Amino acid sequence: MRRPLVAGNWKMNGSLQSIQELLATITAGVADGIKADCAVFPPFPYLGEVERLLSGTVVRWGAQNVSQRAPGAFTGEVATAMLLDFHCTYVIVGHSERRALYGESSAIVAEKFAAARKAGIIPILCVGETLEEREGGVMETVIAEQLDAVIELEGIKAFDDAVIAYEPVWAIGTGKTATPEQAQEVHAFIRGRLATHDADVAARERILYGGSVKGSNAAELFAMPDIDGGLVGGAALNGQEFVTIIKAV
Ligand code: PEP
Repeated sequence: MRRPLVAGNWKMNGSLQSIQELLATITAGVADGIKADCAVFPPFPYLGEVERLLSGTVVRWGAQNVSQRAPGAFTGEVATAMLLDFHCTYVIVGHSERRALYGESSAIVAEKFAAARKAGIIPILCVGETLEEREGGVMETVIAEQLDAVIELEGIKAFDDAVIAYEPVWAIGTGKTATPEQAQEVHAFIRGRLATHDADVAARERILYGGSVKGSNAAELFAMPDIDGGLVGGAALNGQEFVTIIKAV
């Protein structure tokens, strides 16, 4: 039985004041119990405050990115050891914004995935196709390449300590959600791809859907057999909406 996860990616949003209000709403909203794991992903400078506010609650936290390198002369980067100082449970690797805007290749993403696991932090590996790739008929090739880079570097068993998020790029921040059937089709493809290496790992793997998840569409997405929760962007900045999504599990 896979325990669903609902993860809120705040991207480059928030302030000390706004995150206090947001987390107060979320922690109050989940205090009566939830059937999923849940976590928030603040910008780096707020990790300490998030840790302070969430310690002792059911809400976990993580980072949106991490360096694949050990500490050293890498201006602007953040090492896994630094995330451990703030007791991050998770780290997102390979978000499409990192791949598209900051040139992160699948090989770099695989190294980040490896660095996270080595530190004992659960990587959430994002994969997904652009609209052009979907319409061009190469969606499965693109997603397979993103998965295979990690499998080749780390081996299939590594997925036992990891989460995958399928995020069609055309659905991120656009308001265009994949239909539950479209998402399920790709989730089944991802699980099938893992199963060609190890059926047990594939059956255990949590695969989240991300792309304009909202309170109003979460339940029908999460009801699909291969969708194990969501990676939520915009809607995670609204406390009530995020709680509604968590409770849709
Ligand atoms: C995301 O950033 O991972 C995401 C899914 O964003 P949104 O929910 O806003 O589409």
